[in-house]
Amino acid sequence: AATPAPTGGRVLLAAPRGYCAGVDRAVETVEKALEVYGAPVYVRKQIVHNKYVVETLESRGAVFVDETEEVPEGATVIFSAHGVAPVVHDEARQRSLKTIDATCPLVTKVHNEARRFAAADFDILLIGHEGHEEVVGTSGEAPEHIHLVDGPEGVDDVVVRDPERVVWLSQTTLSVDETLETVRRLKQRFPLLQDPPSDDICYATQNRQVAIKDVAARSDVVIVVGSRNSSNSVRLVEVSLEYGAKAAYLVDYASECRDEWLAGVSTVGVTSGASVPEILVRDVLAWLAERGFGEVEEVRSAQESLLFALPAELRRDIKAAQ
Ligand code: SF4
Repeated sequence: AATPAPTGGRVLLAAPRGYCAGVDRAVETVEKALEVYGAPVYVRKQIVHNKYVVETLESRGAVFVDETEEVPEGATVIFSAHGVAPVVHDEARQRSLKTIDATCPLVTKVHNEARRFAAADFDILLIGHEGHEEVVGTSGEAPEHIHLVDGPEGVDDVVVRDPERVVWLSQTTLSVDETLETVRRLKQRFPLLQDPPSDDICYATQNRQVAIKDVAARSDVVIVVGSRNSSNSVRLVEVSLEYGAKAAYLVDYASECRDEWLAGVSTVGVTSGASVPEILVRDVLAWLAERGFGEVEEVRSAQESLLFALPAELRRDIKAAQ
């Protein structure tokens, strides 16, 4: 008699994955603010781009708003990890809001670079995704000097005042490979284009992409845990497909996984974006285990130990409350 087709297989779990130092700090900022000031605490935009995180904080008393004008006068508002334009700080001052800035220090670094090059009268070519909050915030530092370049296709449209005074900067959560291609094309047009003083694509984005490349090359399919509006999570899906996975899926929750994804599959790669709590990955691993994919091998390509202190204004209030 014919033996039944083998079912199940193994899981390659990418590491590093999940929370980065900037997300960890931003989420803790909201948690601590709720403890110190009590609910409600207002948060401008999603603190990090993850559905579960936002819903959990909402249930504890965080109120997410799109614009500063939705925050009652005199209340406390937290700015998200993605950063805000200076005009947003001005608006908050006008409404007498108490502000806590949870902008990731690695985003602040790009803001500082933008200000410095604008002061030196450079045209700044900011590589990033149009409309992403981080890009809106960084552009707001020097709207007269910054031109957005949305990937390699955006290169031909760039117009600068002086091709000898141009520098490129980037969003922190882009595809490393695609950004190199964009820069290569920009340099064909502007041979004197200056590089940023240091990498703008952050360590966490880079590490998660390196890790999934290795995993995707050895997997039939990849499941990325992350939200659709999370730039770095969406990049992990793209990188998986480029590096050999036949299919790659983005899910917020294990309940979104589909049995048919496993048809004929023997190795499943799993990773998660920088805004994703590990509990959501555990749920996906449990879902896979129930379907015969219980053997999990972690594939680690880097160690991470970076930690950021909470915003100084919050640390002061925590100390005063003790
Ligand atoms: Fe900061 Fe990078 Fe995390 Fe964004 S992904 S919050 S830039 S460490």
